[in-house]
Amino acid sequence: MSLLVVGSVALDSVETPEASRDEVLGGSASFFSAVATLVGPVRLVAVVGDDFPEEHVEFLGQCGVDLAGLQRAPGRTFRWKGRYLPDMVGRETLDTQLNVFEQFDPQLCQAYRDSQYVFLANIHPALQLNVLRQVERPKLVACDTMNLWINQERETLEQVLRQVDILLINDEEAALLSGRRNLVQAAARMREMGPSQVVIKRGDAGAMLFDDNGVFWVPAFPVETTVDPTGAGDSFAGGLISYLAHTGDLTPSGHRCAMVYGSSVGSFCVEDFSLDRFRTLTLDEVMSRCRAFHDLVHFEMVELTRQ
Ligand code: AMP
Repeated sequence: MSLLVVGSVALDSVETPEASRDEVLGGSASFFSAVATLVGPVRLVAVVGDDFPEEHVEFLGQCGVDLAGLQRAPGRTFRWKGRYLPDMVGRETLDTQLNVFEQFDPQLCQAYRDSQYVFLANIHPALQLNVLRQVERPKLVACDTMNLWINQERETLEQVLRQVDILLINDEEAALLSGRRNLVQAAARMREMGPSQVVIKRGDAGAMLFDDNGVFWVPAFPVETTVDPTGAGDSFAGGLISYLAHTGDLTPSGHRCAMVYGSSVGSFCVEDFSLDRFRTLTLDEVMSRCRAFHDLVHFEMVELTRQ
């Protein structure tokens, strides 16, 4: 498989009601690519500043991430700071410093242009378009986005959407983009914009896939302790797209399995800060949780008759 991700590699500062961490490894492309390496190689295109700790580069390299596309620019690395509410679902962004990310110009080397599976993580839609111009004939393109781009760069975002197969978006962003609060209506409206599949991420309420076959819902796995939800959405995306890339199964049934696999890896992400859970996570653990999902929602009901 040839899988490419373009997005952020960041230093995150996170506060939860229980604990906090300062300037730990984060960024959409970091979570996505660490997860994707559970099943195979992944090509990462991102930028970091000259202050980016070498240990993070080593960690991603040890995971098996192809780092030929990780640019180093003079200046400070992108920083994001967030605080979780007591429910550990709602969060406020306290600070975003774009730094070297502001000048980011994703250039794909010749060897990356034939990538067959492409994930455009949450970056400026003009950059997402720029990447789409450089890839030759991908089998599948997926993208994420956020409120800022929906509000400020809608036209460019709509150009991106016309060229992607799968849109991954959270419920609030879905309402903003579609102008519909009802998720079924929102998904239908977004599918009219281009993507044949729309995945609405709903935090601890799971994720929903809308496609020609209707709707498929996968719950969030009920974990015992949520330590830090940061990156769960990007980990979910990493699981979903790497599953499709690895199996090559782009049928409706393949997409459903990919949703469950994505939800499984996403549920591991929240068990520790930053990417720390992925330092020890094995594919066996992920697959075993996929089987547990099956038990979670499987039931056999007796046919009731009126007596
Ligand atoms: P998630 O929890 O899945 O929404 O992802 C959070 C991750 O996205 C954090 O690691 C942040 O560093 C990264 N992130 C937050 N805001 C942005 C942004 N404007 N552009 C790119 N990445 C971002």
